[in-house]
Amino acid sequence: MIHRSLQDIKKMLGSEAVDVSHTDPIQIHGVSTDTRTIQAGNLFIPLIGDHYDGHAYASEAHSLGAAAVLWQADRPNPPEGMPLILVGNTLKALQQLAQAYRRELDVRIIGITGSNGKTTTKDLVASVLSTRYQVHKTKGNLNNHIGLPLTLLQLAESTEFAVLEMGMSGRGEIALLSELAEPEAVIITMIGEAHMLQLGSREEIARAKTEIMSGLQPGGVLIYNGDEPLIEQVLTERADAKPFSRLTFGKAESNDIYPTEIELDPKGAHFRINSEHYPPLFIPLLGFHNVINALAAIHTAAYFGVNPEQIQAGFQALQMTSMRIEKLTAKSGLTVLNDAYNSSPAALRAALELVERLDDYSRKFIVLGDMLELGDQEEQYHREIGRTLSPLCIDEVYTFGRLAAFIAEEASTSFPPGRVRVFHDKQQLIQELQASLRPDDVVLIKGSRGMRLEQVANALLS
Ligand code: ATP
Ligand code: MG
Repeated sequence: MIHRSLQDIKKMLGSEAVDVSHTDPIQIHGVSTDTRTIQAGNLFIPLIGDHYDGHAYASEAHSLGAAAVLWQADRPNPPEGMPLILVGNTLKALQQLAQAYRRELDVRIIGITGSNGKTTTKDLVASVLSTRYQVHKTKGNLNNHIGLPLTLLQLAESTEFAVLEMGMSGRGEIALLSELAEPEAVIITMIGEAHMLQLGSREEIARAKTEIMSGLQPGGVLIYNGDEPLIEQVLTERADAKPFSRLTFGKAESNDIYPTEIELDPKGAHFRINSEHYPPLFIPLLGFHNVINALAAIHTAAYFGVNPEQIQAGFQALQMTSMRIEKLTAKSGLTVLNDAYNSSPAALRAALELVERLDDYSRKFIVLGDMLELGDQEEQYHREIGRTLSPLCIDEVYTFGRLAAFIAEEASTSFPPGRVRVFHDKQQLIQELQASLRPDDVVLIKGSRGMRLEQVANALLS
């Protein structure tokens, strides 16, 4: 983490800093925006949100051991008796400090964006690079305009590589993150339909993701999913003048790396790629889409000099942030695939493909909730999913919510009567599901965060 004197920090803040209240030598160790997790010696940075103002916690931060506090100059009554730096805007100050600190470090940065697969790819990249280097990765999902600067400020002077997740909900956000981080390599995992509501079209989503080019260092590398023509299309529109190299990955044989043999089993995926230098590889992750994410990690690692055997070992040692598709076993023996954290058409298709390939279970159930924030086409997206469901691969379909009912409507045309069931009451869904499931069944649970389908998973597991 950052270790600097208060005076140094004021300098690093540049024109964001208006004044500093203290001239004694004070040492800062790390920053915090939250008094619930603050550590002694931290610089407390009070942020202002729609429903809170961190300035109210400045005194508490100080009594918990904060060495100093930033204070936004337009806020009344700055507290006395503690070292303060007055700033124009605390959020901008956080970002400015992170950028200045990053520039003082010798670290090499990898930025990862895409509609799905960012966190997974981040974990894969960090794991393979760790076989050779000292690596820091984004913790959890701290991938936005606050989380990314906080992650930069956590880097140690000795960190060789930082693997950073860059998320967004609209235009301009990825450009900001990339400019703060100045990565040497950037990855675009894929373009899906998440954030359709905010952006309107997949093309516009692709434009937003390619903003990651804006902070790429000259001579750096762009590693992207070559199965998605929109990425190349929108790249040609960009006016980035700097030279960069490109590497593609994906299913198609036109990509620089593609999988040749794939074998998915309940513990993970065995695969080979189109290079004889690589031994057979294994990732302890479920689903074909994760093989594609692994290809991005192979490119990145190879680019930075990690050899094929180290890559193989890095995949074996993978530490996941948290398994998004969590495989859990209930006391009864029932297998629950809990993917209730989020859903969007591409992510749902990936999860369904995974369920379709499972063959160790007597019956396969899926519980699908609404996919939210898809914009005008939301009904269409749900119907398309419904049309892809096949009674040959899935035994029973339960839907929850207004939009998920469109999935059911389409699926009913191909499934036997009674095998597709629509619910608007979650308790009722849980009761009927519990009554139908047997210990040797498997059930996938997936919906947008707002549908809170983890309640279904918890009920089945308890
Ligand atoms: P978030 O935007 O929530 O941070 P993320 O981009 O970090 O998401 P992950 O957490 O890695 O994505 O994965 C979320 C879900 O997306 C997974 O459970 C999986 O269903 C799906 N997914 C992951 N990788 C891919 C991919 N390459 N293509 C399609 N779907 C994917
Ligand atoms: Mg993520």
